[in-house]
Amino acid sequence: MTQAAANRHVVIVGASLAGTRTAQGLRALGHAGDITLIGAGPELPYDRPPLSKALLQGEWSEAAAEGVRLISQAELDTLGVELRLGSAATGLDTAGQTVRLADGTTVPYDVLVIATGAVTVNWVRALTQARRRLAAGEPAAAIADAIRQLPA
Ligand SMILES: Cc1cc2nc3c(=O)[nH]c(=O)nc-3n(C[C@H](O)[C@H](O)[C@H](O)COP(=O)(O)OP(=O)(O)OC[C@H]3O[C@@H](n4cnc5c(N)ncnc54)[C@H](O)[C@@H]3O)c2cc1C
Repeated sequence: MTQAAANRHVVIVGASLAGTRTAQGLRALGHAGDITLIGAGPELPYDRPPLSKALLQGEWSEAAAEGVRLISQAELDTLGVELRLGSAATGLDTAGQTVRLADGTTVPYDVLVIATGAVTVNWVRALTQARRRLAAGEPAAAIADAIRQLPA
């Protein structure tokens, strides 16, 4: 990493697995510039897979919740990563190199990492339900509208 690159302000949108590991990885590689990690949710980053496993096995507890944190506030402090929780990124100005947040503030960046994950759509289930509703006599237009409103 060149000196100039190492001093850039990296803004990471999405404080989950990809975003957290990016911040940790940058520090491990010697990035010395500011790092800001922006999360829409209110909590410290946590690992999703154990949630469903523990819940299904009836082993969920507050203590278990703390065990799935991807990073602690102490580690964030040690790494010098600023975590901004509870305010989703709502706009991006690539010319001005700023991210706008839901709370009305803007965050300038030199390098932007978008780590907001993905939402899966179960099209098979949606289409199966649509077929059932058509068979039950519901108007096709209403069903098509419902499908259009599914997340892209
Ligand atoms: C219950 C559950 C069980 C799972 N089990 C498994 C498993 O067994 N095996 C497996 O391989 N995978 C599993 N997964 C999937 C795995 O958790 C994901 O692959 C992983 O979390 C992806 O990480 P990510 O950081 O890319 O995205 P995500 O974890 O989806 O995180 C994206 C983050 O971005 C934030 N965000 C989104 N939009 C904005 C915005 N505009 N501004 C600011 N922040 C934003 C979100 O709040 C979220 O915190 C499971 C997921 C869940 C939910």
